[in-house]
Amino acid sequence: MKLISIKSNINNQQKILILYTGGTIGMNYVDNVLQVVPGLFSAQLNQLSEINNLSIDLLEYEQLIDSSDIVIENWQQIINDISKYYDSYDGFVVIHGTDTMAYTASILAFALRGLEKPVIVTGAQLPLIHRRSDGWTNIIDALFSASQSDLNEVAIAFNNKLFRGCRAQKVSTNRFIAFDSVDEEPLAEFGIEIEWHKKRWLKPSSYSFSPILPQKFNIIDLSLRPGFMTDFIAQTLNEQHELDGVILQTYGSGTIPMKNIDFVKAIKNACDRGVIIISITQVSEGTVSSDYANSQLGELGVVNGKDMTPEAALAKLTILLSAQLSSNN
Ligand code: ASP
Repeated sequence: MKLISIKSNINNQQKILILYTGGTIGMNYVDNVLQVVPGLFSAQLNQLSEINNLSIDLLEYEQLIDSSDIVIENWQQIINDISKYYDSYDGFVVIHGTDTMAYTASILAFALRGLEKPVIVTGAQLPLIHRRSDGWTNIIDALFSASQSDLNEVAIAFNNKLFRGCRAQKVSTNRFIAFDSVDEEPLAEFGIEIEWHKKRWLKPSSYSFSPILPQKFNIIDLSLRPGFMTDFIAQTLNEQHELDGVILQTYGSGTIPMKNIDFVKAIKNACDRGVIIISITQVSEGTVSSDYANSQLGELGVVNGKDMTPEAALAKLTILLSAQLSSNN
């Protein structure tokens, strides 16, 4: 892994480190399919005249990946690098594939405890080798965001908007509007003017910066479907004794088929065994409530995940379990 200095001269005295992990943005066609090509992203970045006035260093990862290949070790590497360079830079940009970007942004949001600098994740729908690539704007918006000294959080910069990292989801494979966060207003909007919605930004943390490295746990994500699957889920909960956690994607306001006694019993038994089950709704807008007889899951020991996205729920549970593991050691 090499640290490349892109240009000199500091804008607002801000120094930014770009961590380049891979993704479409730096891909080219090899054997007629898109693949990451080492060195291509840094060559393209040097052409970006808008960054002439920024002091940017680039850390290109040795193993550039399509983000569908991401594993816990990649998250550990990103967190270790941000920790290593935390005092040397004012902000960080993580260049990442869009497919699992929301998972990574959520992991970083919960793992980087006490973060007091911007960490902006971005990428592109079209590689930079295309003239019409959205990557150019996304990089520039990410760099602007990463130089905001009062932004103390992880965010995704995409298609002229800045989203809270643990609230965003990929919503399109073919439009430039690849991300949205339906339950949370954007943190910034990049139009002719940039609107920084500072009132929505997180206040500085009362913790000092003390990241938690994610560890591997047996967490599964199960989504209810009418008419089938329920018995399979019950069987899984009864038989998988290695389970640490379950993200249960329930219907509407958090309802489940309460008439299926075996299913309800399987949930209760798993909770009693210490499996952490979190109920989140399959519906993209809105929250799990306890308004219905069919949503009384608290009595079974299920945690109400409110309006968390599946990405955020998986990340939060992973980081909470990882923090518990490290405090037990
Ligand atoms: N498959 C690519 C990736 O996630 C898609 C992208 O970057 O947009 O790495």
